[in-house]
Formats: sequence, C-alpha cells, structure tokens
Amino acid sequence: MARVLIPTALVQFSGGSDELDVAGATVKAVLDNLAAQYPELKKHLFSDSGELRHFVNVYKGSEDTRALQGGDTPVEEDEELSIVPSIAGGVGAVRPLPEPVSVIPEYRRDEAELSNEEILRYSRHLILPEVNIEGQRRLKAAKVLCIGAGGLGSPLALYLAAAGVGTIGIVDFDTVDLTNLQRQIIHGTKDVGRLKMESARETLRDINPHVNIIGFDEQFSSENAMRIVKDFDLVIDGTDNFPTRYLTNDVCVLLNKPNVYGSIFRFEGQASVFWAEKGPCYRCLYPEPPPPGLVPSCAEGGVLGVLPGIVGCIQANEAIKLILGVGNPLIGRLLLFNALKMQFRELKLQKDPNCPICGTNRTITELIDYEEFCGIRGEEAAPQTVEESEEITVRELKARMDRGEKLTVIDVREPYEYAIARIPGTRLIPLGQIVERSGELDAGSEIILHCRSGKRSADALNRLKAKGFNRLKNLTGGITAWSDEIDSGVPKY
Ligand code: ZN
Repeated sequence: MARVLIPTALVQFSGGSDELDVAGATVKAVLDNLAAQYPELKKHLFSDSGELRHFVNVYKGSEDTRALQGGDTPVEEDEELSIVPSIAGGVGAVRPLPEPVSVIPEYRRDEAELSNEEILRYSRHLILPEVNIEGQRRLKAAKVLCIGAGGLGSPLALYLAAAGVGTIGIVDFDTVDLTNLQRQIIHGTKDVGRLKMESARETLRDINPHVNIIGFDEQFSSENAMRIVKDFDLVIDGTDNFPTRYLTNDVCVLLNKPNVYGSIFRFEGQASVFWAEKGPCYRCLYPEPPPPGLVPSCAEGGVLGVLPGIVGCIQANEAIKLILGVGNPLIGRLLLFNALKMQFRELKLQKDPNCPICGTNRTITELIDYEEFCGIRGEEAAPQTVEESEEITVRELKARMDRGEKLTVIDVREPYEYAIARIPGTRLIPLGQIVERSGELDAGSEIILHCRSGKRSADALNRLKAKGFNRLKNLTGGITAWSDEIDSGVPKY
C-alpha cells in the first residue's frame, strides 16, 4: 500500500479524498490501481494513449520519479507518492539561495527625491538598514504593473502603495461585484458596480497621495500587452485565468521583465518569480495549460477569502525585494502553500532548455492567440448546447407547477449549493452522479434538469440523452433566473 497525495484540483475526481491508500509495488502499478478505482481521475492523469500527461508529475517522497526509474520505480509499503503539477527540475529547497538583484538602476534611484513629509511617512523603512533612504528612493523610482485588481491585486497594491512604490499601473476592465468583497479588500460596499480600476485608484490615493496610479480599463490582450508592459520595471501576475497568465508570461519574457507570479485555488496557493534572463519562466513550469474545465475558477471552485491576501502579500514582498535589491528572490523556486494544513513547501525549478519561449530553440517569438492556446475557443465551438425545443423557462415551469402537474425536476448542483438555495419540489442528483444514478429516473417520463445558471444542466441533459433518455428539458438560466423572475426570496450566490 502506498499513500497517494492528490492535489486539490483533482480531489473532486477521487471521491473527495486528498490522501488515498493504493496497492502496488511500482509507481505504474499504483497509478493503474488508482485509475481503476477512480475512472474519472484516469482521464485527467493519462492521455488516450495511456501516457502520463505533461502537466502532472509523480514524486516519491521528495524525488521526481522521472529522475528515478519512471513507472518502474519501486514503491515500498507506506511510502508517499505525490501527484504534483509538472515541473522542470528536482524538489527541495534551492541551495545556495539566489543572489539579491534590483530592477532599479542607480541613476534612477538618485533622481528620486523624498520630501520631508515622505521622510516622516516612511520613517520605519528609513531606519531599516536593508531599506534606508537609498532603498526608499528606489521604491519611489519604481514602476510596477499589477495585472488584475481582484483577490491577489487588492492586498498587493495596498502594500505597494503604502510602501511608497512611485508608480503603480493597474490593468482591469471588470466592475466590482458584491461577491468580490469577501476577498478583494481594496474595494468597499459603496464601490459595487464601479470599475475596479477606479475603485482601486481611489483607495490607493487615500493610502498614499504620493503614488502615481496609472489605470488601464481594458482587457489585457495580445493587442495591447506590449504597449502596456513596456514602460514598467516589473509585472505582478494577479490574474485568475490561464489565457491571461500565459500572455503575462510571454510578454514578460519578450520584454525581459520579471514576473512576480501568484495563483490560488480553494485552500492552496503558489508563488514564484519568473524571469527568463535569470531563471525559468512560467512555461518552463507548465509547458501546456490543463484542458478547459479541469481546474475550475474561483467562481466555480470557491476560494477561502484570506488565501489571496496571504499569497498577494508574498507577491508584494517579492516585488519590494526586487526593487530594493535585498534578500533572496523566489527565482527558480516555486512556493506552495496549503492554508488548511498551514504548510509551506518549496519546489526547485529549473529552466527548461526546450521551453518554447525562453529555451534555446524558441518557437514563440511574438504574442499568440492565448484563448486558442488554452483550448477555450475550441471548447466554445463545441459547447454544451441543447435544442431550443429542449429549453423550458422559469415562468413556464412555475405555471406548470401552479397547475398542479406532477413534474420530475432534477437539481444537478452539488449538495453544498442545494444547502444555500433550492427550488421547491426538486430532487438533488449532482452532475457527477447523473449517469451512474440514471436508473433512479424513468426514461419514459419528462425530466426537467436545472443547475445554477443552466450550463451544467445542459451537460446533464446531453449525458442522459446519450443514455437513451429523450423527454428531457433544461431550465434556462437555472436557479438564478428563478430568483430573478419568480421568487426573489431564493438567494443568489
Ligand atoms: Zn521558459
């Protein structure tokens, strides 16, 4: 029996467990047994030809099994196998630690003068030998770009402004939503509906009027990325989606800017500093994105509100060190943080000589179409659609309920969503179980399916259709539409 550690993104496919005891004398035998036990997990770990996918990797204790005997690596009783994102290089703390480096040259430091008010404001920095007046001038001279003013961007921009970073750029075209306030602490209740960039600018100006805030209320894209990034000294990645993350990486590599990376998922965070001139880039770590739908967004998967606060502060800390030129930057190091276990781990990253953008034979020399690269366009081309005749509106459903029709309405959301809000008279069968439990349903009678917005129920409809059900209806707009049009007493989430 080996103990297999499952990353959070895959826990939904392993029956909810992040640790499983699986039999097998070799890595391959353990993985095969794991896949046999959890067929849903299998397609995320292995390609159709049975190869372990590029974005997953297996460690035995602290050793990368690729550096051992691969699948043939023997596994002793009670040994730990961790399934972790594919990384180039070994695991374990980096020794010796990377040397300090500053992105602000001395001539720019010397040009930045501090007023008496600023000297008083920053006095706790000025009496720190590692910062002192020269470091504070470097901070004033620095131009830092934050991609996103959301969960990560909020805390890090607050601290950068407070620390006296002279110019802070913010790229965000989104508006503040009530559901953002649980973690995006730069915005307040009064800001709901405003542009995030405007709301962030106002908060930052209040914290420190000496900071020059440059807002870009446009979607960060291949068309504008070079123009936006070129005048900044460093970039902080506070994005929440893969296309923008790869775009941020590539533009930083092409313009030779350090990219202070952070990402969050439920209770887990990651942070690093990608700087192709001095170490690996994001593509060295993740050569390809996970297929769409594998890693849910915060909106789909949830996130502990304080987690982006912790990871964003780590990013702010790294940015400030890169400006000051003190300490050991997170270059070539991936920091993993688990908030539930309160554990930090550090993985060693190496530059991948075959990296398509920073390796020796580069295949990417300009920005590409990132939606397409991440498979999102392809996914949209084949969305979970249903025929118009298979849709039912909430008004129609309500009218039929009021007429006393005996209806089978199946809610395909998760139990924790059902606990927040439900439509009366519905039955819960989560999407993941719908095929398995289709025997509980009468294929001959009409079945109405619903979820939060109508997407998952469309998926459920197509899955049941494939099982021979043909009297199916999808509730358009899901329980959200029900709350909007029928009963505002049903909470939206
Ligand atoms: Zn690279």
